[in-house]
Amino acid sequence: MSSSSVIVVGAGVFGSSAALELRKRGHEVVLLDPGPIPHILASSTDISKVLRMDYGADQFYMELMEAAFERWDAWNGSWGVPLIHRTGMLMLAAGPMVPGGFEHDSLKLLQKRGHRPEHFSAELLTERFPAWNVQEYPEGYLNPLDGWAESGEVVARLISQGKTLGVEVRGGVAFASTLDEGARVVGVRTTEGVELKADYVIVAAGSWTPGLLPHLEQFMWAVGQPVFHFRVDDVEAYQPPNFVTWAADISNSGWYGFPALDDGTFKIANHGRGKRQPADAPRTVEADAEGKFRAFFRSALPGLADAPMISNRLCMYCDTWDGDFWIDHDPDRPGLVIATGGSGHGFKFAPMLGPIIADVVEGKSNRFAHRFRWRVRGELKTEYARYS
Ligand SMILES: Cc1cc2nc3c(=O)[nH]c(=O)nc-3n(C[C@H](O)[C@H](O)[C@H](O)COP(=O)(O)OP(=O)(O)OC[C@H]3O[C@@H](n4cnc5c(N)ncnc54)[C@H](O)[C@@H]3O)c2cc1C
Repeated sequence: MSSSSVIVVGAGVFGSSAALELRKRGHEVVLLDPGPIPHILASSTDISKVLRMDYGADQFYMELMEAAFERWDAWNGSWGVPLIHRTGMLMLAAGPMVPGGFEHDSLKLLQKRGHRPEHFSAELLTERFPAWNVQEYPEGYLNPLDGWAESGEVVARLISQGKTLGVEVRGGVAFASTLDEGARVVGVRTTEGVELKADYVIVAAGSWTPGLLPHLEQFMWAVGQPVFHFRVDDVEAYQPPNFVTWAADISNSGWYGFPALDDGTFKIANHGRGKRQPADAPRTVEADAEGKFRAFFRSALPGLADAPMISNRLCMYCDTWDGDFWIDHDPDRPGLVIATGGSGHGFKFAPMLGPIIADVVEGKSNRFAHRFRWRVRGELKTEYARYS
């Protein structure tokens, strides 16, 4: 495809990675965001996100993450400071690991694909990861390849790299509507009434997307999920090798979290049904949320039962109806491309998102793009839950 002009709406991880990749391919790219960039309320702007290849029996996402890790390592090497930390991830089960269970199926698929997860009995868990109550989680495995990313820092880095290569980043500019000529989208109108034209408009506004483009509301919606930061005193006890990125019976309970930072910050989150609300509604966690987090500590991580809370946050997912991302041309509005639907698990694929989105814009084949194509809402064969 010859060089085109592209407006990218939204500077989260979907938008910033798309802008960078399209610019690398020679396109003229303008990246818009209400800012300040990275936006404090963006899902991508956080201290950490899990990087894991464990997706139960779903080989597609494992393969996508295998490819992503190769690029993460290259990015990390080029940044001078490491922004991803491959601490390993402990996947704990609430009972014996059995076929059909998330931990069992993830472990088997990892082994089948030649990876070397370490399987843990209750006895071995107590020895190696003593903070955990093995009465609650008697079996699990460690995937040494997994870890976490300093997600807000990563997005800032992608934007700065984009700027260096010539992406025109416009903070303080918000998309209001598409600019149309017949069915074709030929640009955007901003909330200030300014009209900007381009060959392609990519809307990558995360949980704001269905509010900005209401015809998408049938496919995706914004859902708030609670995230808490607590303070730990004995930092070493909650850092590698004693304590690593973790998920505890994630497919049933939704609990997952991270090792403590050097300043004692301990981040934990729960992937549950969430609170369906518009992205711009007040972001308050439910009144009983702290109690639920403390109850989890009492049973699973008793040493943290009284850890002081530092802060909490309602972070917005852009959930699609089936939990797969949404990266495609709008079939009814040529010129418009949608790149969103992170559904609570999109960040880890950051290095793959730009190339997938750019291939879709350019009409090139991409071995991963089919899963994220435009699709009508249908029957779900399995309950959707992809767990951060
Ligand atoms: C609690 C929580 C935990 C998560 N944990 C993980 C995890 O551990 N691992 C993982 O892989 N993923 C995780 N995710 C998912 C991941 O964070 C998201 O999939 C990803 O960050 C979404 O990126 P995005 O670019 O689509 O959206 P965002 O990061 O939200 O960016 C959207 C951007 O659009 C901009 N915007 C809004 N309105 C406008 C407008 N009118 N005009 C222009 N721009 C606009 C916003 O300012 C924002 O910068 C988690 C998500 C949440 C909420």
